[in-house]
Amino acid sequence: MFGFRRRKPVNPPVLDKRDTDLARLARETFDLLIIGGGITGATIARDAALRGLSVALIEKNDFASGTSSRSSKLVHGGLRYLKGRHVRLVRESLRERGVLLKIAPHLVEPAPFFLPVYAGGKDGRLKLRLGLTAYDLLAGFGDIGRHTVLSREKMLEAEPLLRAEGLQGGFRYFDCVVDDGRLTLATVRSAVQQGALALNYVEATGLERDGERVTGVFFRDVIGGGSGNAHARVIVNAAGPWSDRLREMAGVAGILRPSKGVHLVVPRSRLGLTHVIVIPRLDRVFFAVPTGDSVYVGTTDTDFKGDPGAVRIDSADAAYVLDSTNALFSDAQLTTADVVAGWAGVRPLVAKEGTPLPSDVSRDFEIDPGPEGFYTIAGGKLTTSRAMAEALLDRVIAQEGARFDWRPTPCRTGQTPIFGGNVEGFERYAQAAAASLVGSWGIPLETAPRLVRTHGTEHVALLACARRDAALLRPLSDACPVLRAEAVYAAEQEMAMTLGDFMERRTKLMLFDPDHGLDGAEEAARLIGDVLGWSPRERQRQLSLYRDDVAAMTAFAKEPPSVVDPASG
Ligand code: FAD
Repeated sequence: MFGFRRRKPVNPPVLDKRDTDLARLARETFDLLIIGGGITGATIARDAALRGLSVALIEKNDFASGTSSRSSKLVHGGLRYLKGRHVRLVRESLRERGVLLKIAPHLVEPAPFFLPVYAGGKDGRLKLRLGLTAYDLLAGFGDIGRHTVLSREKMLEAEPLLRAEGLQGGFRYFDCVVDDGRLTLATVRSAVQQGALALNYVEATGLERDGERVTGVFFRDVIGGGSGNAHARVIVNAAGPWSDRLREMAGVAGILRPSKGVHLVVPRSRLGLTHVIVIPRLDRVFFAVPTGDSVYVGTTDTDFKGDPGAVRIDSADAAYVLDSTNALFSDAQLTTADVVAGWAGVRPLVAKEGTPLPSDVSRDFEIDPGPEGFYTIAGGKLTTSRAMAEALLDRVIAQEGARFDWRPTPCRTGQTPIFGGNVEGFERYAQAAAASLVGSWGIPLETAPRLVRTHGTEHVALLACARRDAALLRPLSDACPVLRAEAVYAAEQEMAMTLGDFMERRTKLMLFDPDHGLDGAEEAARLIGDVLGWSPRERQRQLSLYRDDVAAMTAFAKEPPSVVDPASG
């Protein structure tokens, strides 16, 4: 039984609700219990709940705090995979790109990508042109736009700071950028809307068995300190790069070949970038993506051993990313002193024989059943997560449905909007909504479009909390444009439990604000603390943890240079 005590005689309502949810987790037997609140676990929870199964999802940290907020933030077919002849994967990814654009139009945004071609480059113009034609065909012509050929002059007109020497011209094609962390969160909230129970900061610490069959998990409430056990007919291991740890608990061999990827953030003014640039390297493809006043560049692909929670950017990663960027932006000559932020993530790739480099390992996913009642799903991409969930549930239902007399409806995730995305013609809607926010609510012109893009139709619910206090419509500080209402809403409605949850994933202040939102962090801690009942000491602790996290992003700059090549694997 869940050893559960109420925190105080009178809890803040948000914690009361969490206590009720924890008690429900310990009390009910669910059809499905999912371990891991990244995009994989979140999409499975949404799909299963939409099919009418009873679902619980537990995440040991914050939703998306693992790999799912540390990606390149692209919803894409993966042009480079055409070269590896993974045509099926590219076709599936492009199809899923189309689906995500429809069901999450607020979070997935089409963008032109510029691919420069240089003399002596590894792929000639003809080869690239053929590849891009195939890419357009696989996406279905007319999807979000066909590629065009650009002369040298047009390429430099679009991006004047690109290295001119050796530039022959290039291509413009279309793919999408995404807010990965918020896509995961919106997916979790969609699952909850359909009746799923979803709890962050709840860790699975062991598995419970009845004979050979896995029937439950032991869990620990990371915030309140309680512990207990939860039961389900089927347990799904969607723990991303931690999946092998869960498999070890289940007594089965590991299947992963984890690979590390890093991104660095530099001020936009240093590269003068307007569009996403594809930087071709000999061994892989790099992206430079402008966002707000920043540009992020990456990524690397190296074997990773160790705790995925402890993954960090090291000096060799940084040198590789900076060298790759400087090769194309030779006048910029970026150094570590230019790096203002960054992130490292671990891909939960599935090991395959005969792939010496991690970048050769397929981005396909695998479903591995066993022991009885326990299914592992690993690999894949953010882009294909909806299809992964569908495949997993089809398999689980085929294998377990009759035994438990399940009568699920067919998969509906491809037609059902994700939380905040229930609107046709999003661009038109966003313009009108932003204009109304400026006109009727007095929201600053530079804030309104961001609010609508981040929350979609849910921006209305966010602003409703400002009805009780008009001061919540003000920014966190003069230098920090995020509204106070966003902090309150994050704690009340979006399950933010720490200041970092808000600064890093509910907003992207930590990564992309020039000051990492530090100027507004104290006010955010006050507002979130009021909702969660923090003492003055806890507020200070949260602030100091956040400052440490900010400093850790660029700690590599103080390390001695390393000799490992992050591209070699
Ligand atoms: P995770 O997001 O890691 O989720 C697993 C979760 O399980 C974690 O949050 C963890 O805390 C939780 N967990 C672990 N153990 C326990 C436990 N015992 N109890 C409870 N919870 C537990 N894909 C794209 O489509 N586009 C891209 O541009 C792209 N770029 C990428 C760039 C990089 C550098 C990397 C690393 C990946 C990229 N990917 C991209 C791939 C994509 O990000 C991943 O495939 C995806 O995020 C994996 O999600 P996941 O849910 O399987 O894992």
